[in-house]
Amino acid sequence: EIQIYDLHKSFGDVEVLKGISLTVHSGEVVCVIGPSGSGKSTLLRCVNMLEEPTSGRIFIINEEITDPDADVDAIRTKMGMVFQSFNLFPHLTVLQNCTIGPIAVKRVPKAEAEKQALDYLDQVGLKHRADAFPAQLSGGQQQRVAIARALTMDVEMVLFDEPTSALDPELVGDVLDVMRRLAETGMTMMVVTHEMAFAREVADRVIFMDGGVVVEEGHPDQVIGNPQHERTRTFLDRVL
Ligand code: ATP
Ligand code: MG
Repeated sequence: EIQIYDLHKSFGDVEVLKGISLTVHSGEVVCVIGPSGSGKSTLLRCVNMLEEPTSGRIFIINEEITDPDADVDAIRTKMGMVFQSFNLFPHLTVLQNCTIGPIAVKRVPKAEAEKQALDYLDQVGLKHRADAFPAQLSGGQQQRVAIARALTMDVEMVLFDEPTSALDPELVGDVLDVMRRLAETGMTMMVVTHEMAFAREVADRVIFMDGGVVVEEGHPDQVIGNPQHERTRTFLDRVL
């Protein structure tokens, strides 16, 4: 569970997040949509403290990550993060990418880490590419490895920031399929995306952000299918 209370974030004198409060419940899939520059990535980056909030409080499974005394690294190990760019280690194989975290951070023995990693790679359909290097894979395959890698850390939630935006259109579907299956396992997911069909089908709740505030939130059938606010309608008219 992620709880965000009155989150503000400024860069210099530009206030990018202007008081965001929201909760992502355990097992819930929340999709965040909104125009470019509305603060979606900044919001996600504040959740795992890649950006330090200017004010406001954030709790990850009842631990306050914004507490000055918090063990941010320890809390972060509960969260996987998948970015637009794939961020795999280029000099490591697919399997090594998926075992380095468990071995180095969680002290899992190598053989066990490899066995678990192969299970996760199987789940994303890439067990047979375990010995390949990232550069030998398509963007969509790399992104599926990035998802498998996040899962090898036994995370309780995964944050996604436009995971399919950098992909060729024909590769998007496989990545969304993996995310859909992950959602079905009950994983808590916060997903910034422009994929409205995915949001409509998979999200339990959709948050529409504009100008650093949450303009509208609710069930996808409502926010995407029957938006109440003019700003939401204008945005959807452009992307649908
Ligand atoms: P997009 O859909 O294009 O990814 P976004 O909704 O994710 O947009 P953010 O990346 O959160 O938007 O950016 C929100 C605003 O904050 C933008 O005006 C951006 O220029 C600004 N911003 C983001 N990061 C920084 C930074 N490190 N320093 C200064 N300004 C920043
Ligand atoms: Mg962004």
